[in-house]
Amino acid sequence: MSVEACWLTHQTGTIIRFRPSQRPRLPNHDVDLTVELFDGQVIPGRFHLHSSNPYVAGPRIVQFIRSHVRPQSREQALISVVGRHWRLFKAQPVSKEVARYGVSRQRAALGQLRGKDIDRILKKIDRLSDQSSRRKEYQRLTRPPGLRQIIIELMGAKCQVEDCDAAQSTASEWGDASAALSVLEVHHIEAVAKVEDHSPRNLCVLCANHHRLIHGFGPWAICHRDDDVILTREGRHLYIVRDLSVLS
Ligand SMILES: [Zn+2]
Ligand SMILES: [Zn+2]
Repeated sequence: MSVEACWLTHQTGTIIRFRPSQRPRLPNHDVDLTVELFDGQVIPGRFHLHSSNPYVAGPRIVQFIRSHVRPQSREQALISVVGRHWRLFKAQPVSKEVARYGVSRQRAALGQLRGKDIDRILKKIDRLSDQSSRRKEYQRLTRPPGLRQIIIELMGAKCQVEDCDAAQSTASEWGDASAALSVLEVHHIEAVAKVEDHSPRNLCVLCANHHRLIHGFGPWAICHRDDDVILTREGRHLYIVRDLSVLS
């Protein structure tokens, strides 16, 4: 789940702004969409494009969201703008957060955030959301406790993508086998979000680069062939070569 850094502040002069780089992903004409509120409630709405604003402020959707978020809730939101289903994610109350963004508390409190403030906040939010997704990924990898270590011991300290020698070359570069371990991660073939399956059949060992590639560059079609797994994206394949005979 990627959280796009659109920014809504509440009770500080509600602001929703979209960066120019996000424009291609926004509807380019009036369009129906649904907005999922903090509590999971989904409401239909209508987006109105405001062409004169480089930031594509959407006055109607600002109004719309404002009317559905409890007025006393001093909350701000990150908004996922992918497709026609937008989702609000809770963030800290603005008063607690502004200092971290290097934005004047007073300006924020008075609802006088400027373009530069917004840019600064967006940059920070990008970093924060990135970190939190990394943390989540890390938690996923290490769940249940020790899973990574067990699987690497079981399957071998090698990236299982065919012909990848990232782990071995790291080991020889540093003259230490434990250096190889530090670049290896354990990946769930069927996402944990879909199936909570931590069995070795649903796991493989990847170097950090291949792991990022698989998570960031999809979607992949997944096909199993004996122990191996073939990921396919637009006609190209990534072979994950496994030997699960250790399990039998
Ligand atoms: Zn993974
Ligand atoms: Zn690799």
